[in-house]
Amino acid sequence: MQQSTPTPPPAPHRRALLAGLGLAAATPLLLGVRDRPAAPDPAAGQRNLAGGRPVLLRGASLVLTMDPALGSGPLGTVENADVLLRDGTVAAVGAGLPRPPGASVVDVSGKLVLPGFVDAHTHLWQAVIRGGCTDRDLFGWFSGCTDPQRARLTPSAVHSFVRLAALDAVQSGVTTLVDWVDIFSYDLVESYVRALAGTGVRFTYAMFPPKPDAVLLTKVKRELVDPVPLGSFQVATHAARAVQDHNRAHWEAAQELGVMLNSHVLERPEQRADDPMGVLADIGALGPKLLVNHAVHLTDAEIAAAAEHDVRAAHCPLSNMRLASGVMRLGEFARRGVKVGLGLDGGTNDSSDFHALMKTAIGLQRARAADAGVFPQVPDVLRMATLGGAEALGIADRVGSLTPGKRADLLVVDPAALNFAPRFDWVGQLVFNGRPENIEAVFVDGRALKLGGRLVDVDTARVVREAEAAAVRLRATA
Ligand SMILES: [Zn+2]
Repeated sequence: MQQSTPTPPPAPHRRALLAGLGLAAATPLLLGVRDRPAAPDPAAGQRNLAGGRPVLLRGASLVLTMDPALGSGPLGTVENADVLLRDGTVAAVGAGLPRPPGASVVDVSGKLVLPGFVDAHTHLWQAVIRGGCTDRDLFGWFSGCTDPQRARLTPSAVHSFVRLAALDAVQSGVTTLVDWVDIFSYDLVESYVRALAGTGVRFTYAMFPPKPDAVLLTKVKRELVDPVPLGSFQVATHAARAVQDHNRAHWEAAQELGVMLNSHVLERPEQRADDPMGVLADIGALGPKLLVNHAVHLTDAEIAAAAEHDVRAAHCPLSNMRLASGVMRLGEFARRGVKVGLGLDGGTNDSSDFHALMKTAIGLQRARAADAGVFPQVPDVLRMATLGGAEALGIADRVGSLTPGKRADLLVVDPAALNFAPRFDWVGQLVFNGRPENIEAVFVDGRALKLGGRLVDVDTARVVREAEAAAVRLRATA
């Protein structure tokens, strides 16, 4: 197929990138940031990257720590508290914290603070097919939308779509994402990883190789992903009897690299014929290093086996609803103690809205059961969206809650909005009323990526223009 001439995106200028990720680069009017240096300091970005300057979030009306040891109830809620960020970590949560010397103070009075959202399953490049194939199920969506677009991708287009979608995720409160990618050539992968790295989000690149290729997987991990401080790697697969040997090779490569195996499993009822859980059991992959996505049509025995072996799962309710895939038996997974996170699943839900994702996770179960008491309830989905996702990915020792010592990935939500106010039950309102535009600030690893409701140092109009131009070029090659 004829491809448009790729125009490789320029490597981001290092200092510009650092400044873009640093609090020092933020507009002083935003969010009431005080005590800033009088003039831009060229070294400030570097110091921020190193976690040099502490940030004190002062006077939050409500903090959801997700750590019951730090506050009330299962979400560890604390009223009227400060949160101190230092060296990229959460240093303390509590009332009246002293301001460390040199700290930036951010006034968050009247606002909520909570850990960032963990998107356990996505495909960011599929931003190119937003709103597409809306009358198709999974298989029709593959043939009508995904496959034709993937075949035309160029490095430049990949960079444009991934940057657009990753920034949309960040502005929607996603601080960690796992991207399952079935893009095969090294130059496309390089462009993909560069786009992710340039946004400042914490990411896992889950690479699906076209054939078992441990050399390529190792090269991508070592050369492209490992050098990115917030990047990590997984091996992706599609478990099925017909490709069982490939699945086994992928599992062996994952073990060799010390990373998780990440597989789509039983998204559609027809995939029962592939016996993916049987295959994963036969190759010895059932265990805490296996992440299964969707897992809609598992039998009782398969859910029990997943629980017994501590297999992890990603639930993608918006995607499952959109593609008529079915409803995951989330209550049964929870009852057996399976660690489950939430996933946006890329282009199929057409949105990075985690509030919609949480609301749908609740709504699908209630609609099926005609019972408002079924799992999950509001605290359950808030936990799944944060700490639960981190547990599913095996990174809960670093992110997912505001436990001091963890990396500072967190959100500031402003409830003073037409769609959110007045206060009745802010925890419930976060799920049922919240929207991405209510997220005023996003910090990843202690660095502000969004402040005052705007992405820091991102020309969003340009990002949109470039994605639009890339989409036009792709259509021209059809
Ligand atoms: Zn998927």
